[in-house]
Amino acid sequence: MKYQNYINGEWVGSADGKTFEQRNPANLEQVTGEWPKSTREDAGQAIESAHAAFAEWSGIGVHKRAEYLSRAVTVMKGQTEQIAAILTEENGKTLDESRTEVGSAVREMEFQIAQGLAMCGETAPSATPGVFAYSVRRPVGVASIISPWNFPFNVPGRKCTPALISGNTIVFKPASLTPKAGKAFVDVFVEADLPPGVLNFVCGGGGTVGEEMINNPLVEAISFTGSTGTGKGIQQSVAQALTRTQLELGGKNPVLIMEDADLDKAADAVAKAAYACAGQWCTSTSRAIVVREVAEAFEARLLERVRALRVGDGSSEGVDMGPVCGTEQLESITGYIKIGQEEGATLAQGGRRLTDDGMDRGCFIEPTVFTDVRPHMRIAQEEIFGPVLSVLVAEDFDEALEIANRVEFGLSSSIFTRDISRAFQFLDKTEVGLAHVNMMTAYREPQLSFGGVKSSGHGIPEAGKTGIEFFTEHKVAFINYL
Ligand code: NAD
Repeated sequence: MKYQNYINGEWVGSADGKTFEQRNPANLEQVTGEWPKSTREDAGQAIESAHAAFAEWSGIGVHKRAEYLSRAVTVMKGQTEQIAAILTEENGKTLDESRTEVGSAVREMEFQIAQGLAMCGETAPSATPGVFAYSVRRPVGVASIISPWNFPFNVPGRKCTPALISGNTIVFKPASLTPKAGKAFVDVFVEADLPPGVLNFVCGGGGTVGEEMINNPLVEAISFTGSTGTGKGIQQSVAQALTRTQLELGGKNPVLIMEDADLDKAADAVAKAAYACAGQWCTSTSRAIVVREVAEAFEARLLERVRALRVGDGSSEGVDMGPVCGTEQLESITGYIKIGQEEGATLAQGGRRLTDDGMDRGCFIEPTVFTDVRPHMRIAQEEIFGPVLSVLVAEDFDEALEIANRVEFGLSSSIFTRDISRAFQFLDKTEVGLAHVNMMTAYREPQLSFGGVKSSGHGIPEAGKTGIEFFTEHKVAFINYL
């Protein structure tokens, strides 16, 4: 099946007609679609279309915009099963994980629509008699939305909705591994009759389409989710133009397990957040830091759960973990497994590519656990972005916290303890944007902001009340009425 870009309300191919194929990571023999390998010119056209649509869309008022977006949410809810099947076919996650992703997108959108309706500036008493002072929020203009492949439906929902409800127009680029999920997102807006030019969709590479979306002078805001390396490159590119950026980047998320923890709950939470979506979750748990006193007992519980995970095609019933998303991911993750062994960590579980029962046609990896990991090792420092967990042992809380913070990332973290004082000390000192007590690192809710610190994020965070903040600017006015 051959698919197209969506520019100015029309489905169109790329200017030079070039295409690329995307394949099902559970079965690489299955082509899921042929997509435009768009050029910078295609992206430029989409940006111009968004620019042309801005005056009308920003002028129709927030209630009318909310009507369009609410209609899109209704369509989305009614198509959950079809969209979930697309996510599984293209990304590899299990059908349950895909359904959860669509449900999360719905909730993110509902909250941001409500936020848009409540969007307001402020009034303040003026220092000068007879002067009335107030501020309003205005949309910034054309926003570039650049999405990764791991949450190819929810991430655009989280970014596009606050942008659109506050009056901006958009060019959206999906990751090349997941264009069909991106198209499924755009389709619901097409069905909701969104006016032409308000939401444009361009498939293609980061070095072409992405570069244009970063550097075109008509673009006023860039909301990007992806790897830290790409995010830093984007920030450098826009330094001269001062384009506003919102960068949601990688993580190396730790869970601390204290001597008083409920070890079963801790093992459940670590096993869930380390291997859900095959570990390709920015808030996945990638490090378990356990105090020596309970290390053996925790590891036994953890390994029991990891060994019980059933790996297979995400579209089959009863599968806990699907394939990783494509051959590059497969090579990168198996490369890290080799690095871990060379560094001297103990491969306590997994570590192999799975090839039985037809799995050789896809990108399947065993859920993997390394123990005896030391904090300086690459598998303890770098984002692996796959089903590979590093278990580290600390002498006490202070050392565990120090190890947890000694990485370049700062996205999410958690502690398992029954000691309220220690929990608050952890919350105070953990260097992340999202912290938990007795919960998995991947837990979050749409009504609160979501963003990392250190090399995990930059700019105003997504979601919650800050979702709209990023896509609006404040204009202050003074009126002399005497
Ligand atoms: P990536 O950086 O390779 O690509 C992300 C997107 O950027 C893709 O659409 C890609 O085509 C585009 N891109 C690449 N080069 C570009 C350039 N020069 N200019 C503009 N766009 C460019 O990341 P990925 O492999 O798709 O995603 C995985 C990463 O995303 C992981 O590091 C993960 O932690 C991170 N992530 C973070 C969050 C978060 O909220 N913090 C959420 C999901 C994923």
